[in-house]
Amino acid sequence: MLLTADAGCLVRYQQESWISGVSLMTKIWQFASYHLWSLFSPQVSKEAWHCDMKRGFTKARKKEPIVKALLEKDTSWQRIGLLAQKGVYEFHQNTQLLKQPRGIEQVAEILQLNQESAEVQKRVTGVLKNYHENPILVGKNVIKLIRGDEGFPEPILIRHGNYHFNLYAAIDCIFREPDGTIHILDFKTGKSEFDRRQAFVYLLAASYLYPQQPTVASFYNLESGKWSKCITATAAQLNAIRVELAKIAKQHQRDLRRYRFNAATFQQIYPPNPGFHCQYCNFNSICKFSVAEVPA
Ligand code: SF4
Repeated sequence: MLLTADAGCLVRYQQESWISGVSLMTKIWQFASYHLWSLFSPQVSKEAWHCDMKRGFTKARKKEPIVKALLEKDTSWQRIGLLAQKGVYEFHQNTQLLKQPRGIEQVAEILQLNQESAEVQKRVTGVLKNYHENPILVGKNVIKLIRGDEGFPEPILIRHGNYHFNLYAAIDCIFREPDGTIHILDFKTGKSEFDRRQAFVYLLAASYLYPQQPTVASFYNLESGKWSKCITATAAQLNAIRVELAKIAKQHQRDLRRYRFNAATFQQIYPPNPGFHCQYCNFNSICKFSVAEVPA
């Protein structure tokens, strides 16, 4: 699942910063996450869909009431992802539900699925049926399983040379394999391809949370039942990810500063890339470059 991280967790950062002696004045807003990375650069093969202006709306203009309202509106696919994750969580709150024929209906009631749109109800019911039939976490030594709506995860303070930033990694599930390997699992829905960058960000996070422990990451699609191969990272690869995230964290703050200094440069800092994908963009109703037909 994907969770945005922004300038939250200030207190935690202050504590960390005092401990490490980092200057609060210069470092306080520095952060990176997979979500931020995905806003900066597209997944392989998704280049045509990428638009920097979406990052501008999401990050630089998020406090404007109209943008805020759009950001708070869950799209169907976000709703399906969240409810699918919650469904898995509820099954594991009471594993008897996985053995009872009515377990699917009971979880649907807990999720108040009847209040969702017809499409969301249909697809999430499909997820619940799939998981009831093939509960992949049963028998696993689960260390962590999130509900999906907990908010920002605890940040991990990353040091890269003299530069420090917070890494946010909202990991859906962590379990320990019989041989002791830490397994990070990310649940997916829909048809989109897995993005290996997300796995690498989680593996970097795990290297801080579970130092010196062998770790793998994988993706499991709750709708198709497809489980990816396990992804691992060498120390050199993790360092390359750390470097990339540090670069993104710095660039993000530079862009925000430029925008705050002169809001008229919005489209230069965050250039638009209009196209067929505008029809799926959250901001097409307010973006003057949109080529999507928006219902009046
Ligand atoms: S509507 Fe189109 S051009 Fe505007 S931000 Fe969205 S994708 Fe970019």
